[in-house]
Amino acid sequence: MKTILLPAFVALGFLGALSVATTAGAAPKKLLVVSVTKGFRHESIPTAERTIEAIGKESGVYTVDFARTDEELQAKTTEKALAAYDGVFFVSTTGDLPLADRDAFLAWIAKGHAFLGMHAATDTFHGYRPFIAMIGGEFDYHKQQVRVEPKVEDPKHPAVRHLEAGFGVLDEIYIMKSFDKARVHVLLSVDKHPNTGEPGYFPLAWTRQEGKGRVFYTAFGHRDDVIEADWYKKHLLGGIRWALGVDGGR
Ligand SMILES: [Zn+2]
Repeated sequence: MKTILLPAFVALGFLGALSVATTAGAAPKKLLVVSVTKGFRHESIPTAERTIEAIGKESGVYTVDFARTDEELQAKTTEKALAAYDGVFFVSTTGDLPLADRDAFLAWIAKGHAFLGMHAATDTFHGYRPFIAMIGGEFDYHKQQVRVEPKVEDPKHPAVRHLEAGFGVLDEIYIMKSFDKARVHVLLSVDKHPNTGEPGYFPLAWTRQEGKGRVFYTAFGHRDDVIEADWYKKHLLGGIRWALGVDGGR
């Protein structure tokens, strides 16, 4: 058996090295980072923008462009402008955003582009249900900040595989509505209400497919120290790599 297995391992090692080399040589992807708010505005948005830009630079996986004002968002989400991007990242956006064409925007994602959402991204477009269906859940409410120990539901996924069992995080924990577990692939959840302890199902990060597009959402990211934590940067980079199609998995 050993004589048969050995060449197989050598061949696998070679293929592994080849795929790594191919990834490293690939041109960086381009992400549009959107931080326009029409409701509550998080003070941690500049920290999130800086962090997303920095991990893109460090990893070489992607570069970023920003849409911070209504004018920038309108100009950068026309069909023509979107052609320059591989994905978009909604960073604690809130309210009804002035996209150039919101239906065309969702169609662009479904054609095979990445959508990433952080924290209040689910507090966005409450009046435009196709957006809520695309992101996979809707912010309902939160209570005071609290420490949770999320369950890692897919230990192989690039966004959470670095997390050890029993890891904990203090943040503002969102309670979702308009959530259907059958429509998403949950990565992190807790099985009791973060503040009251009442049993239930509370999803905190998930992925889903929107047509040929890949959607990643994490409810974490209210606090600066969460956004700057090593585990969270790996969580974001893993989610971004997956949504951009650099990594596999669901
Ligand atoms: Zn918040």
